[in-house]
Amino acid sequence: MPELLPVVPGIDRWVMPEAAMNAVVIADAGEALVIDPGTLPSRAAELRAAIEARGDRVVGVVITHAHWDHCFALSAFGDVPSFAHPSAIAELRAHGEAQREAVLGFSTGATADAVRHLEIVLPGTAVPEPRTLRIGALEVELEPLGPAHTGGDLVAHVPAAAVTIAGDLVETADDPQLDGSTDVSGWLRALDRLAAHAQPLLVPGHGEPCGHERLAHHRALLESGRSGAAQRP
Ligand SMILES: [Zn+2]
Ligand SMILES: [Zn+2]
Repeated sequence: MPELLPVVPGIDRWVMPEAAMNAVVIADAGEALVIDPGTLPSRAAELRAAIEARGDRVVGVVITHAHWDHCFALSAFGDVPSFAHPSAIAELRAHGEAQREAVLGFSTGATADAVRHLEIVLPGTAVPEPRTLRIGALEVELEPLGPAHTGGDLVAHVPAAAVTIAGDLVETADDPQLDGSTDVSGWLRALDRLAAHAQPLLVPGHGEPCGHERLAHHRALLESGRSGAAQRP
């Protein structure tokens, strides 16, 4: 079973078995915000239990973008507010079932059964403009970016912790991943914005936290057109 892995004090990540995606937990004064609950509601429930076991109450969920490995588990947090870029909500509404079919194409056993039966829940609150959430005394700045990796990416800045949670705009487990919803020129603009505005430590959608040097790496790959079709969203 995964565990809460400290990034900095107050911010942990939890690596979901599906696509090794980083679920991120921002916590202060007994409140917690979950960013990207992952694929399977049962695994998100394990994460929630671990958060509650240490005495924190989940008060909200943020979805960074509408890819299955980040958002299909949202039903495990159906009782708290959920936030996403308006285009991510629209993409999930339009293409959620197609994504489920695609995932079933490479899933087996209990995972396939769980994917087949999970309820695809749409985030309830659109974030069309920057918006600050308060978790305990900690300010979390949600910034919608994109279209970029998808039609609607959203990042979360935590200035007091010097951390930005970047979703799949930044990856360290792999090269940037493109699919039919990707806007490469929008992604390059998003990288510029992150270079100017993101906190020094970036938590990617997949892989270890990194610094801004990874932005230049992604820029070079995207500009060269060498990033081919996604192996994995
Ligand atoms: Zn991803
Ligand atoms: Zn993605």
